[in-house]
Amino acid sequence: MQNRDKLYINGKWITPSGRNTIDVINSATEEVMGRIPEGDDRDANAAVAAARAAFDSWSTTAPAERGAYLQKIKDGLKARSDELAQTIAGEVGMPIKLAGPIQVGSPIANFGYYAKLATTFEWEQTAGNSRILREPVGVVVCITPWNYPLHQIAAKVAAAMAAGCTVVLKPSEVAPLNAFILAEVIDAAGVPAGVFNLVSGTGPVAGEALVRHADVDMVSFTGSTRAGKRISEVAAATVKRVALELGGKSAAIILDDADLAAAVKGTVNACFLNSGQTCSAHTRMLVPESRYEEAAKIAADIARTFTVGDPISSGAKLGPLASGAQRERVRSYISRGIEEGAELLCGGPDAPADLPRGYYVQPTVFGRVKPDSTIAQEEIFGPVLSIITYRDEDEAVRIANGTLYGLAGAVWAGSDERAQQIARRLRTGQVDINGGAFNLFAPFGGYKQSGRGREMGPWGMEEFLEYKSLQFKVPKSQ
Ligand code: NAD
Repeated sequence: MQNRDKLYINGKWITPSGRNTIDVINSATEEVMGRIPEGDDRDANAAVAAARAAFDSWSTTAPAERGAYLQKIKDGLKARSDELAQTIAGEVGMPIKLAGPIQVGSPIANFGYYAKLATTFEWEQTAGNSRILREPVGVVVCITPWNYPLHQIAAKVAAAMAAGCTVVLKPSEVAPLNAFILAEVIDAAGVPAGVFNLVSGTGPVAGEALVRHADVDMVSFTGSTRAGKRISEVAAATVKRVALELGGKSAAIILDDADLAAAVKGTVNACFLNSGQTCSAHTRMLVPESRYEEAAKIAADIARTFTVGDPISSGAKLGPLASGAQRERVRSYISRGIEEGAELLCGGPDAPADLPRGYYVQPTVFGRVKPDSTIAQEEIFGPVLSIITYRDEDEAVRIANGTLYGLAGAVWAGSDERAQQIARRLRTGQVDINGGAFNLFAPFGGYKQSGRGREMGPWGMEEFLEYKSLQFKVPKSQ
């Protein structure tokens, strides 16, 4: 049991003003695995005041010095990797073998990356008679979800701190315990008071108090499109900068000359990773009409190899979903797919028979899904794949682009050149070509209602920077 009764504000662990607490539930056992404070607007105000007070000094600290702090945080996280992996596997339900490298390895890599970038970034340039300065935007509020909790935190916090911003983090109330470990690591790294602050609580209370606050310059949000719209509305009152990483309904287009077995396998894997709780999951598989039967059989056979079970003790490939609410949502989408007439190739809405406890869902594949049906349009966020057929390339592109989202996707073809031609026509932030691997340092973010702005790599840090140009009088002789 990880009992947290304090918030990290202004370099100290302080008793919160809000007296309520939130239970953190282990997704495999449904038991309480931790407890956190439910911060309120007074806690939010205290954290913003601390971040504001720390800004002048942190923003003028030499970038290399900021980088040195980030490097210490990286080392601190590394030293606590096992504890972090266990915690996140319990909170989120991802099998421990994957949780280690993905859920903990990525944040460690990101802190290391931004530690270096702070020192190598071109902070000033000359353009004509102007000197162009890159300066931190100010106090940044980071609001994060539960599916890759520490990765999403690191993508924001490491980049913002490298940029010279001070931060208030409001992590997901579903998977917040890893954020408390990060706060301890930051404290142990000796980061100056107020540069990083942690306020736990719910979105509508602690989250909105932070978003509304007049002393906050920017909100960087990852989560649902619904919450992203609300945050944009609230932030508009004070003209804050808002970066949004939202949902997705990404398509993998398999062309007629692709290696079908490899393409289907790659798509099922990209759909079921983290039990489908991945915003960039390839949840729609587009296959030529002529190859449907073959593709459907391969997909169902592969899906059946996704054994479901305890993420820590069982060695299963698929853990539970993160919460009871999420499980019910996913099961109702599976029922909806059946009602709307899609072909159920494997899985279904019932909980796996041998797992009475834990938020488990069967890996599910639907065939002959209509492109405009609910399960082909809405983000399910569970292990549910929809196979859609197309007649020609133009139709495949039209279907792939035919949702409100535009976060990720894939193209599989006989050659990278042919795949790339199709990829260039997709209205989406990322496209994997013939199984190209996820690149932690390529820009990540969405077109359309998948969001605004990019994370990762130098692009991720530039989100937190302003431009300032100084004009010099050029001597007449020149
Ligand atoms: P969510 O939107 O319910 O919550 C995300 C965070 O926002 C939480 O910390 C929550 O407390 C907070 N929040 C909710 N309402 C708020 C409000 N009115 N004001 C301020 N804060 C508020 O999302 P979730 O259920 O935690 O995560 C799942 C969603 O996140 C999915 O839709 C998924 O696609 C999306 N997601 C997107 C990305 C990406 O990078 N594009 C990554 C991961 C998850």
